[in-house]
This record gives sequence, structure tokens and C-alpha cells, in this order.
Amino acid sequence: MNIREKLVSPIAHTCDVLVCGGGFAGIAAALSAARSGKRVILLEKTYTLGGLGTAGLVTIYLPLCDGMGKQVSFGIAEELFRLSISMGMEPQLEMRYPDIWLDEDRASERNEKSMRFETQYNPHLFAIMAEQLLRKEGVVILYGASAVAVKMKKDKISSVLIEGKSGRQAIQAVSVVDATGDCDIAKFAGARTENFQQGNVLASWYYFMDEKGYHLNILGFADIPDDQKTDADREKDKGKKRYAGLGTEELSRMMQDSHSSTMQDVISRRGKGQDVWPVTIASIPQVRMTRKIVGEYTLDVAEEHTYMADSIGMVSDWRKRGPVYEVPFGTLYSKNVKNLITAGRCVSVTESMWDIMRVIPCCAVTGEAAGLAAAMTDDFSTLDVHALQNELVRRGVVLHEQDNGRDLS
Ligand SMILES: Cc1cc2nc3c(=O)[nH]c(=O)nc-3n(C[C@H](O)[C@H](O)[C@H](O)COP(=O)(O)OP(=O)(O)OC[C@H]3O[C@@H](n4cnc5c(N)ncnc54)[C@H](O)[C@@H]3O)c2cc1C
Repeated sequence: MNIREKLVSPIAHTCDVLVCGGGFAGIAAALSAARSGKRVILLEKTYTLGGLGTAGLVTIYLPLCDGMGKQVSFGIAEELFRLSISMGMEPQLEMRYPDIWLDEDRASERNEKSMRFETQYNPHLFAIMAEQLLRKEGVVILYGASAVAVKMKKDKISSVLIEGKSGRQAIQAVSVVDATGDCDIAKFAGARTENFQQGNVLASWYYFMDEKGYHLNILGFADIPDDQKTDADREKDKGKKRYAGLGTEELSRMMQDSHSSTMQDVISRRGKGQDVWPVTIASIPQVRMTRKIVGEYTLDVAEEHTYMADSIGMVSDWRKRGPVYEVPFGTLYSKNVKNLITAGRCVSVTESMWDIMRVIPCCAVTGEAAGLAAAMTDDFSTLDVHALQNELVRRGVVLHEQDNGRDLS
């Protein structure tokens, strides 16, 4: 028990499923658990849903398809995709309108050369629509609530301690979903976790306005995983600052570096005659990978097109066309902490797989499965995985490539 736990924290709420973190993974998990009729609380330390996908201004919903003309991610991953553009496309984003995927009559146009099943959305509209959807499904959202510690009873979490405007409180839950992106809850509970070794490059994505309208400025593109770098990449990398993304002081410095980089970009564009005005800067740090659980299974990049008996859904590789991965249930939990499951960018994958699994559609896929599993049990190591899979299929998820019409002969 740490020092925080020794202080008396009144039980402020009780629920069946406590989802910690309200990014895409947490939204999917909360929806999924609520649809099983459970009492669900979703904790979010900011005051907006969507995490990196809204407050972090990362507003490109990467593909639900394999890039060869076939959709691979379904269920809530597709539902949130459709929700994200349900109020239409902004004029300057029409180039990302996935019309051939939304119109069944145009299915024959989907192939290895066509636009992938991806889009760009407005972060503010999505955050509000996701909030409305969760409220409609009966999820209780607690904003401004940071999970700071857990109380354990043997090998289960009995309550999660939060800090917010009301001070320190405890929330009692039957099962807990860690959708914090940083695996905070698993770390507090003493499950085995691993930090991202490579570190994050600086990113400063921001929206600006100019004579032509407003634009998302993608400043700080994704890194290449260390084990896939060429010598030339390594040479380019020399001296580049990196961020682990797990400490208060470092994250504060990173945000300040990111703000400076935005300012330099504005000044440079104005110097070239562009009448640039920033309209939104990120309100959370733009870190791609930080900490993940060491689960019962660790998925690797080499396992593309591999049949996984305990698959909970499929994801593709956003970086290239072709690869498809069946995601094993074992990547979501560790049996050290029986009633804790992870979802989103902190599930159990190798460093080279992490760059694939961290993106929005994959977070929604693992979120849906984690939320449903949390509604079914308080001990993930003994969960009837077939029952979980049957319910996922009933909800529209496709688990295996062989069920998705891929010729495996
Ligand atoms: C610069 C950058 C560019 C990217 N580009 C793309 C892209 O183009 N397309 C794409 O699909 N993906 C992209 N990604 C990745 C993707 O956006 C994220 O990995 C994904 O959105 C993560 O979702 P998540 O729900 O797992 O985590 P997050 O979005 O990190 O959500 C976690 C939530 O939990 C909250 N939280 C954290 N700790 C606590 C706590 N202790 N208590 C309570 N709440 C807590 C946070 O405030 C946050 O809202 C990018 C990421 C970055 C950084």
C-alpha cells in the first residue's frame, strides 16, 4: 500500500465496470460494457472525450481496411468512424471522404489502388457526439478525475482512487479497464509493464487559419521503429530529442517545446507571405507510445495473416497495404491482476508492432473487446473466451481472416 492509499478516501461511487481514460479506447470500452446492461463509469482527467484523437488534434481516422479492398475492422471501430463524419465533411477535408466505402453500391471500386477506408474528422464535433452517445447508453462520465492509485484485495483491484475538484475519492468497481494510454492503472496495481525504449519525437500538430480556410498542420511525422531503420534513417535521427512521456517534468518540457515549434512554424509561414493564425493547439501532450502491459500474449509485427484462436477482432497496418493481424485476447490482460484489462495504445505488443496497434481503429477494436470482457467477468484469466467471441460476432465484429472471405489456400 502506498502513501496515498493510507489516507482515508471515501467511496464516492460504485459500479460494475470502471473505464479509466476517455480516448477512443475508453469510449469503445464504455459503450461496449454499457450495452451489456452494466453500470459503467468512465473517468477522464481532462474535460473532453477523445484523448489524442480530439484534445491531441490527431484527427485522421486511419484505415479500417487492409489496403487491398477489404474491410477488416468492424463493430464499434466502424461505428465511431461513421459517427466522426456523421455531421458531414468540412470543405477542405473532402479529399479524405471515403465515399466508395460508405456506399455499398460502389463496393466493386474498392481495390489495392483505391483510397483506403480512412477519413479526417472535426475533433470538437466528435468529442461532443461521443459524449452524447455515451450518455444515451447510460454511461456516467466523470471529468476532471485523474486515477492516482488503486486499492488491492489480494490479486484484484477493489477500488481506484481519483483526484479531482472534490479532492480524493475512491470508486469501487467489479472490473477495471485501463484505457489511460499510458497503462497507469496496471502500473499502480503492480502488473508487469514495459516502457517505450525508443522515445517519442516532438510533435506539434495544430490547426491554423489562412486565406484559404483552416487546416490541420501535421508538424512532427511518425517515427520509424528502431529495428526497421536503415543506416540513412539512423544518420538523420542523430541528435533528435526524444521524450519518454511518463513524467510530470518531462511532459511539461515537451509541451513547451511543442508550443515553441508551433510559434516557429507560424513565424516561418508568415515570413513567406502566408497569413497564418493558429485556431487550436493541443491541450494534451502528443506522445505516441509510452508504457504498455506485458500481457499473456505479446503480438509481433511478423504475425501478419496468422490465425489466432482467441482473436477478438482484426486490424490492418496503416503504413502499408496488405498486412492483417488477428488480435489475441491474451494481449489485453495479465493474470497478475485478475480484474484488470487494458485497451488502446497500452496493450501487449512488441516495440515494432506498437506503431501499428497504437492508432485509432486498433484502439477502438481492443476497447470494444475489453469493455465487453469486463462486463462478463471479474477474472480475465478464467473468462470463457468463446462466449466473448460469440457476443463480439453477434455485435458485428469479424474475428478471423478466414471468416472475412480471404483465400488462405
Ligand atoms: C503526433 C501523433 C500523431 C498521430 N497520428 C495518428 C493518425 O493520423 N491517425 C491515427 O489513427 N492515430 C494517430 N496517432 C495515434 C492515436 O491518436 C492514439 O494512439 C490513439 O488515439 C490512442 O487512443 P487511446 O484511447 O488508447 O489513448 P489516448 O488517446 O491517449 O486516451 C487516453 C485518455 O485517458 C486520459 N487519462 C490518461 N491518464 C489518466 C488517468 N490517470 N486518469 C484519468 N484519465 C487519464 C487522457 O486524458 C486521455 O483522454 C497519433 C498520435 C500522435 C501522438
